[in-house]
Amino acid sequence: MTPAPSSSLQSFEELQAPGRPTQKIGPEELGELIGKSPKLVFLTGAGVSTASGIPDFQTTDASWSYALPRTEMISLPYFLTHPESFWKVYSELFMGKLEAQPNEVHHWIASLEKDHRVVVATQNVDGLHAMAESTNVLECHGSIWRVVCLPCRVTFPTQLFLGEDLPTCPHCGSPLKPDVSLFMDEVHCMEEAARAIGEADLLLVVGTSLRVGPFNELPLALPPGIPSLWMDQEEPPGRYGFTYGCLGELTTILGEMEK
Ligand SMILES: [Zn+2]
Repeated sequence: MTPAPSSSLQSFEELQAPGRPTQKIGPEELGELIGKSPKLVFLTGAGVSTASGIPDFQTTDASWSYALPRTEMISLPYFLTHPESFWKVYSELFMGKLEAQPNEVHHWIASLEKDHRVVVATQNVDGLHAMAESTNVLECHGSIWRVVCLPCRVTFPTQLFLGEDLPTCPHCGSPLKPDVSLFMDEVHCMEEAARAIGEADLLLVVGTSLRVGPFNELPLALPPGIPSLWMDQEEPPGRYGFTYGCLGELTTILGEMEK
């Protein structure tokens, strides 16, 4: 039998199999670990916003009532070909998020700026990290708070177009696209995020299952020997080899840490 070449792809199962972090830590050790790390980089996902009443986009399929799948309707090609239908579905799914408020997880991350240099790279499009006054936020999947005219390459605040069935560009009349990474659309800030990770003293991956690429490649940018921490209810996927794992409900962990 010929051995598999070393560059062969890992199977999906292999990549997704739970990998035990080297060391499980509790809230107290978490506080100590953060305390001795001047430069923190957070990678955050849907789990950070669930306590703000925003359901995880990936787990809300049950309420989907359209004939076409979600991945097709919330895609760039669908926006380009059916802008009006796109906006109807998009509004139903996303516009309610404009009402959401930051929760204790967002506030905790923002508060760390008092004593640390903090960069937050997030997959969330709800703008809640900025609303909690984190100052260095990389919105890798964009923001529901902006819309963009693709021909003019200009963005506008979403609030200017509330209630319109099909928002159009005040300059050229083209349909405006939410400044959110749709399926088959581009993502943002990946190089900046990777650069920040390259300079981090501690990488904290919080509330994301790391299922969505290319965001899920970012932890691999951490230089060897720099510690990484996984914070979530579930075990991390096996490919990353996190140094530490703090498992549980995020708000519970934070509550314990503050005692
Ligand atoms: Zn325009």
